[in-house]
Amino acid sequence: MAEQATHYRICPLCEACCGLEIRTEGAQVISIRGAVDDVFSAGFICPKGVSLKDLHEDPDRLRQPLIKRDGQFVTATWDEAFSEIERRLLPVIASHGPDAVAASIGNPAAHKISLLAYFPRLARALGTRNVFSASTLDQMPKQLSSGLMYGHWLSIPVPDLPRSDLLIILGANPMVSNGSLWTVPDYRGKAKAMRERGGRIVVIDPRRTETAHAADEYLPIQPGGDVFLLLGMVHTLFDENLVQLKHLAGHVNGLDDLRAAVAPYSPERMAAGAGITAEAQRRLARDLAATERASIYGRIGTCVQRFGTLNSWLIDVLNILTGHLDAVGGAMFPKAAAFAANTVGQPGSGRGITTGRRASRVSGAPEVFGELPMNCLSEEIETAGPGQVRALITIASNPVLSAPNGQRLSKALDSLDFMLSLDIYLNETSRHADVILPGLSPLEDLHYDMAFPQLSWRNHARFSGPVFAKAADQPEEWETIQRLAALVAGQDWRADVGEMDDAAVAAEVRRFAGAQTAAVLAHLAPQRGPERLVDLALRTGPYGDQFGLKPAGLTLAQVKAAPGGIDLGELQPRVPELLRTPSGRIELAPPSLLADLAFVDAALEQTPSATAMILIGRRDMRSGNSWMHNLPVLAKGPERCTLMVNPDDAERLGLQNGGTARVSTALGELLAQVAISADLMAGVVSLPHGWGHDLQGSRLQVASARPGVNMNALLDGEQRDPLSGNAVLSGVAVSVTAA
Ligand code: SF4
Repeated sequence: MAEQATHYRICPLCEACCGLEIRTEGAQVISIRGAVDDVFSAGFICPKGVSLKDLHEDPDRLRQPLIKRDGQFVTATWDEAFSEIERRLLPVIASHGPDAVAASIGNPAAHKISLLAYFPRLARALGTRNVFSASTLDQMPKQLSSGLMYGHWLSIPVPDLPRSDLLIILGANPMVSNGSLWTVPDYRGKAKAMRERGGRIVVIDPRRTETAHAADEYLPIQPGGDVFLLLGMVHTLFDENLVQLKHLAGHVNGLDDLRAAVAPYSPERMAAGAGITAEAQRRLARDLAATERASIYGRIGTCVQRFGTLNSWLIDVLNILTGHLDAVGGAMFPKAAAFAANTVGQPGSGRGITTGRRASRVSGAPEVFGELPMNCLSEEIETAGPGQVRALITIASNPVLSAPNGQRLSKALDSLDFMLSLDIYLNETSRHADVILPGLSPLEDLHYDMAFPQLSWRNHARFSGPVFAKAADQPEEWETIQRLAALVAGQDWRADVGEMDDAAVAAEVRRFAGAQTAAVLAHLAPQRGPERLVDLALRTGPYGDQFGLKPAGLTLAQVKAAPGGIDLGELQPRVPELLRTPSGRIELAPPSLLADLAFVDAALEQTPSATAMILIGRRDMRSGNSWMHNLPVLAKGPERCTLMVNPDDAERLGLQNGGTARVSTALGELLAQVAISADLMAGVVSLPHGWGHDLQGSRLQVASARPGVNMNALLDGEQRDPLSGNAVLSGVAVSVTAA
C-alpha cells in the first residue's frame, strides 16, 4: 500500500487564504478539509478548496512546454522552448526596443510567491513601459486612493469585524467571497457572532446578495450611484456637525478643503443619482457617527465604475470623519510579518506615491503603480508607430475573457510577432501564444502569501511546503521567470539559475545592509528562491529576529515549525507609524481627487435611457474569475452563468425562467439563460464574469462543455476610471429581449 500522509497547506484559490488539511496516499489526494488547528481560518473551507484535487489531477493542466508549429501546438523540452523564445523574442527587442514587448500578469499570480516576487525582476529586465495586470480590472482604485491618503498602495484598512457593532457593506459580497481586499475566512461565522452580540450589518447593493440576506438591513442602490451616496453621507457629517476625528485629530491634512469640496453634494441633490432617499443617506451617516465601534467597507462593485477612485477615497473619508479609522472595531490596518512596505523605512512619513511617471502611447493614460490600464493593451498592439507593442508575455493572465472587448484583443494578439504565455492551461488567451511554459500545480509548490497578510482580519504568519514533488525536469516558476529575465537581458539563460538568484538577492540585500551584506547572506544560506526571500522578509520585518538582534523574533524556521501558523494577535492601532506620506499625515483631500469631483456634477446631469437595462456582475461561490471552470467538482450542479432578472422586468420583456434572453450592446450580443429573481432591483440585470469558454483553440474540456457567455464581450474597452485606469465593468446599459 502507498504511504499515507497529512499535509497542511494554505489554499491558493482566493483571498481568504484558508488553512487546509490534505491527506494523501502516495501520489493521490484522498481528502481535503479545513485545518482546524489553523490559527487564522480555524477549520473553515469553501467548496473551491476541495477542488485543489481536481486542479492537481486535471488532464488539461499543462505539464510540458508547447511550441506552435504551423498553427498547431506540439510538446517541447524546456531547452527547446527557451531556444524558441530566444530566436523569436530577442530580434523584436533588438529591432524595436524594450517597449515593443508588453507583459501582463493575472490574478492567480497574487497567490503564488514565485510569480509575485520574481515578476518585478522580469519587468525590470524587459525595461518596458507596457506592463499590465488584473489590478486595472479589479482593485486599482482602492490602491490609488490608499496610496494618496496614507502613502502606500497596500495600506488598505479592513473592518475589525470581531470587535465591531456596525458594518456598512457597499458593493461587496463577503458571504460568497470571504472578503476581497479584506482576507476574512468564514465571514459567515464572524458576521453571525457579531450580530448575536447585538451588532448590525447593513448591505447596499443593486442586488440583494447572499451577504444582504444575512444582514439586518438591505438598501438597493442604482448601479454606479455609489459616488452620489458617499458624497451625500460625507456632506451630512459636515452639515450636521457629526465630524469627530477623535484620536486622528492632529494626524490629518485637508479637512477644510474636504468640507468645501463636498458642500455642493447634499443628500437631497444626490438622491436621484444614488437611488437612495436623502433621509436614508442622512440616517446612514448618523448611524456611522453615533456607533462607538463601526465602519463602512466597499469593494469590487465600488471599484469597477467610472468613479472607482472617488468611491474608494470617500469610503475611507467616512471612516476617518467618524473616528472609526484605526480604531478598535472600526477599519484597521493589519501589520503583516513580511513584505509590507508600510513596515519598512522611517515610521510615520515617506515619499508617498507618484502616478503618471509615463503614459500609454495611444490614449495617454497615466501609469499607476507601475502599470498601464489593461483596456489599453489592444490599442497598443494595433496602432503602428514607434513603441508599438509587437510581442507579449502573459503570466497566469487571461484578458481575452477577463477584460472588456476580448474579441478585439483576440484579433490584436494574432497580429503580434511573438507571444509567450506562462500558464497552467491552454486557455482563451494562451491559445494565441507561440510558446507556452507550464506552471506548477499548486500542490507541487510552496506557499507564503506576500499580499494578503497585509489585508487580513488578524495578524499571523503561515508557510506551507509542497504536498507533492514536482516532475524532475519541471523548473519551479521562479526559476522560469529568473531564466526569462536573463534571456531578455541578453545574458546566458543556460547558466545556473541559482547563481542568478544569488546575484539578484545580494544586490537587494546590499541596498539596505551595506557592509553587513555578506553576514546577512550567510544567515540566509543555504536557502534559495522564494524561501530565502520569505526568511529575509520575516527576519527584517516588524516581528523578525533581525538576524539575532532580537533573539525571540520570527524566522522562517519558526514559522515552518508551526503547521497551523503563528498567531500575531488582533489588529492594533497604527497611525501615525504606518503613514508614508511626505507630510506624515493622512491626506484627506488629494488634489487629483477633488478635481475629479467636477465630473460628478456632469454625471448628475445625465438622464438614463428609458428603455435600457443596466448590467452588473456577480460572484459565485464555486467560481473565481475565468480559471476554475475546468474543475469537475465546481462545474457540476445548476447552470451558474445565468442572466438574473427581476420578475417585473421579466414579465415586461417577455422572459421566462430558464428561457433564453438576448443581451446586446453596440459591441455585440450574447444569448444567456434567464434566472428570474426578486433579489435584483428593477431595471438591472446581472451576469457573472469570466465565462465564455467556447472559443476555438483552447483546451478546457470541462469548461467548454458548459461554456457560459462572456459578459465582458459586451463592454466598451474605452470606458475606465481616468484616475486609476480601472476598466468600467459594471453599471453598463444593455438591451435585453426574449430570444
Ligand atoms: S474560501 Fe475557499 S477558495 Fe478561498 S481560500 Fe478558503 S477554501 Fe480556498
